Amino acid sequence: KLAARLGVSRNTVVRAYAELEVEGFIAGKMGSGRYVEALPPAPALSRIHWSSQHNYTHLHAAPPHMAELLAITDTYPDTINFAHGDGGKHTLVTSGFPAYVKSAADQINSYFFTSVQGFPLLREQLVRWMGFEQVSSPEQVCVTSGSQEGLYLITSMLARPGDCIVTEMPTYFGSLQLFQSLGIQVIPVPLDQEGMKTDILEGILGRYRPRFIYTVPTFHNPTGYTLSLVRRKHLLSLSEHYGIPVVEDDAYRHLHLDTPPPPALKALDQAGHVIYLNTLSKLLFPGLRIGWIAANQHFIQLVRRLKELSISTNMLGQIALANYLKADALTPHLARSRNLYRQQAEVMEAHLQPLTALGLQYEKAAGGFYFWVSLPEGVEARKLMQTCRQKGVSFTCGDMFLLRHAEQPYIRLCFTHEPPSQIERGMSIISEILTRQKEE
Ligand code: PMP
Repeated sequence: KLAARLGVSRNTVVRAYAELEVEGFIAGKMGSGRYVEALPPAPALSRIHWSSQHNYTHLHAAPPHMAELLAITDTYPDTINFAHGDGGKHTLVTSGFPAYVKSAADQINSYFFTSVQGFPLLREQLVRWMGFEQVSSPEQVCVTSGSQEGLYLITSMLARPGDCIVTEMPTYFGSLQLFQSLGIQVIPVPLDQEGMKTDILEGILGRYRPRFIYTVPTFHNPTGYTLSLVRRKHLLSLSEHYGIPVVEDDAYRHLHLDTPPPPALKALDQAGHVIYLNTLSKLLFPGLRIGWIAANQHFIQLVRRLKELSISTNMLGQIALANYLKADALTPHLARSRNLYRQQAEVMEAHLQPLTALGLQYEKAAGGFYFWVSLPEGVEARKLMQTCRQKGVSFTCGDMFLLRHAEQPYIRLCFTHEPPSQIERGMSIISEILTRQKEE
């Protein structure tokens, strides 16, 4: 009508509106059409740099533990590293994985998009690898950039700032940092050799109605404990009774040194309350940044809406991994790794055992990557860590895994990252310094 009145073409009017819109002169409201509007007055010019005008308080809700831990190898490239939780550089050659990366690098598809949810052939292989009756289709899987991103997606979907979640305490510091940075309150549940104390959990669920239960039930990080079958069933019955989902972080399932662990919670999940999270970081290498979420199809479709915002996980890695899994190369690699990890744990333990005379305590490793060490009376974890770091050995302080950041008498030692000869050297240094600090 306007075009006819002005005697111009319709396209001229549409283009004029588009230009006004780009310049911010048009406001539109659903149902009330579009109208021309004056621009709001510009705020007064400020001489303060833009970067200090924003509110970054959420970033400070948790200490930057992850960044600090990952920076160790840049700051101290020659450190004997008991701090990082991975299977070590020496396993790269025997894994055979580089050949799959090279072959993926020769495939044209490696340089283009795949679906948001992840490369379909990889998702197929992950379904096969898990072997859970409850996860029978690639549609129930979403590939993520490490399981850390998986946990980020799940947490952002299920909880909002101010909500609470429950988890065993101590717990993996990366999750703790993530929850706290998102403004989520963490309700701790104690654990013992049989994992999370589900009798205590019961009272907490009734009282707080958390948004979800986050758990590392198998070879828990940092304690190495595994949730017993009885408690697994109790946990699932509580989750069903209260209608509260369980996020199962299963990073260490295949890393038993002795007997295999009980079935995953997901494999026991009749009611569909378990959201399963896993990663290749511990089975292969953390720099791959590939993990996955497995859950019911409806939930995965919702995960995909959020994952879409960061497009997808790197395709080169996904193709290499899909072919590696398809060739069944991961199973013999893990068998070799477990043999090596057993030796590494023995070497480390041989140095820990004599320190028990000073009051140091630890559990024999049954799987996973760590010794969770309780320090003798009078030895301070941070002081010990700083002295050891200067003498060329790194490890992680226990306070990172706990809600209270006050001095905690624990350290975590990863036994899988260094070859046995380096473990010998590093542990001799720690033993000497610890003994001296105990005597001071
Ligand atoms: N969950 C647990 C329990 C872990 O120990 C780790 C690694 N330390 C992760 C998740 C992180 O895995 P990713 O590298 O896949 O993000």
